[in-house]
Amino acid sequence: MCGIIGYLSTSPGVSKKIIHNLKKLEYRGYDSSGICLLKNDKFFVKKSIGEIKNLQKKLNFNDDYTCGIAHTRWATHGKVNLKNTHPHLSQDKTWAVVHNGIIENFLELTEYLKSQNISLSSETDSEIIPQLMSINKNIDNIEKLRNVTCMLRGSYAICLLHKNEQAIYIARRHSPLYIAQNKNSTMISSDPVTFGEDYEYYYALPDDCLAKVDLKDISVYDSNLKKVNIKPCEVGSFEKSAELGKYPYYAEKEINEIPKIIDGLMLNYNNVDHFKNIDKEFIKNIKKIKLIGCGTAYHACFMGAKFIQKDAEIEAHAEIASEFRYSNPLIDQETLCIFLSQSGETADTLLSLELAKKMGAKTIAIVNVPYSSIARESDIVLPLCAGMEIAVMSTKAYNAMLVVLKLLSEHLRKLNGKPMNVDISELQNVDYFKNIDKIDEITDLVLKHEKIFFIGRAEDYVTALEAGLKLKEITYINCISIPSGELKHGTLSLVDMKSLVFVIATDQTLLAKNLSSASEIKARGGKIILVTNLDVPCDMDIDYIYKFDKIDSSLSSILSVIPFQMLSYKTCVKLGYSPDKPRNLAKSVTVE
Ligand code: GLU
Repeated sequence: MCGIIGYLSTSPGVSKKIIHNLKKLEYRGYDSSGICLLKNDKFFVKKSIGEIKNLQKKLNFNDDYTCGIAHTRWATHGKVNLKNTHPHLSQDKTWAVVHNGIIENFLELTEYLKSQNISLSSETDSEIIPQLMSINKNIDNIEKLRNVTCMLRGSYAICLLHKNEQAIYIARRHSPLYIAQNKNSTMISSDPVTFGEDYEYYYALPDDCLAKVDLKDISVYDSNLKKVNIKPCEVGSFEKSAELGKYPYYAEKEINEIPKIIDGLMLNYNNVDHFKNIDKEFIKNIKKIKLIGCGTAYHACFMGAKFIQKDAEIEAHAEIASEFRYSNPLIDQETLCIFLSQSGETADTLLSLELAKKMGAKTIAIVNVPYSSIARESDIVLPLCAGMEIAVMSTKAYNAMLVVLKLLSEHLRKLNGKPMNVDISELQNVDYFKNIDKIDEITDLVLKHEKIFFIGRAEDYVTALEAGLKLKEITYINCISIPSGELKHGTLSLVDMKSLVFVIATDQTLLAKNLSSASEIKARGGKIILVTNLDVPCDMDIDYIYKFDKIDSSLSSILSVIPFQMLSYKTCVKLGYSPDKPRNLAKSVTVE
């Protein structure tokens, strides 16, 4: 969601570099883009709607600029049009800004600006920042930036240029910003994926801090203007893993990476003791566990709660982050809160983490992006090791979350003095894509039906939820996911000849119950696709059986979701939609 690039170079021609790197942020989702270059105390601004290549076309000129900032906007305040596209300039043309996030008190600040005879020329919340910076000309710019950020409520990552300086001013709160430097250039970015080509190290700007950055120095201050020392992080394989390779879309590439990711994850957890701080002392007084996330990560939370409750026999509940904060959560030092997020920047999850810490809970982060805010703020981090995930629809990160949660639930079980429930290394011997070529036929069935349902019990219900989310997310097909046992409490009235119902069944002890739900559907004219790895009685009246590979039922959910991920992908491609960038959605949801 939205992206920032700032760039300073010893040699002219920065627009190419800026656009090249802005494109690396495209995967996060955006609706318009813009750039501001600076030379001889004058700003040169270009903006365009839609893809970055539209902006690129407007930059066909002899570029002798050495300094600039740029933005991909994901509109939150004000329509998608050129006027609202960033960068925004102050009325007196001394400051230019790009901003990620939301300024919650912008109406109040707009009134204040009016009292200073400054009116806004866009509908965005962001424009108030350069306008506020242009007031009060007699103080030092870094102090001015501190004063302005103190006036802002909400979240921001901001990058500012002053017309007389070859330097970039930056600040952030609840929205990430990073800095990398080599002997020829300095780059600011909202995502370290841009650093892979030119830099060996980068720095994360700490929350609620600000900085002045030029070609030589990075001067970071806290909100009291005390200097802050920041530690470099190495640019690693994670930042370099975003190549599409032989695949037409990232969604397909990322689903195909699942076996490799899980092998690598198991190897990593064998070699590094990520659980070393989750010891008897750590869990001694833990009475309950909350798992908190949004979207697909929430489904992983839901699955994780079931794993933990079954394996470790500790009370565990999943919570949707955006609801958790408003639910008067009853948590204290005896609660362990586990936060799940692919990006580690999901705003609602991050704010829930802050709340949990304030209330004294112990915290664990399960994230894919190692340097993310949620990772930094948590007591313990369990990495997903899934490599960069670019497609908006999360796939491989979900499977990795389930594996980490299973490893964790077995670890907690061990701490409770019980023998292992299952040998997780079984995952190394399965065929993750058994029968996957049959998905094409099922895609046709989906497209022929008006109503699509996903049903299951226990862990299979969670898979039904995730299957439904994948389908909605990228094919825009309306569908319902519901526990099998709930059908007859209302939703069964929808089932008729136009219905296609996926029944997910991976637990032998629940098979009979699932099959009777299937009969209820058949009796009302619905078509059944059974997705299972169990042996099914051959006299059952089922329209289609999709069989994935056999594995211990406590690990089945890691496999059973894959046909659904592939089904959504194939259906999306057949419908001619974009599997990597579905409409209205962004990869990393950094606003509440
Ligand atoms: N709130 C700002 C706007 O609507 C910034 C949105 C973004 O983060 O891209 O322009």
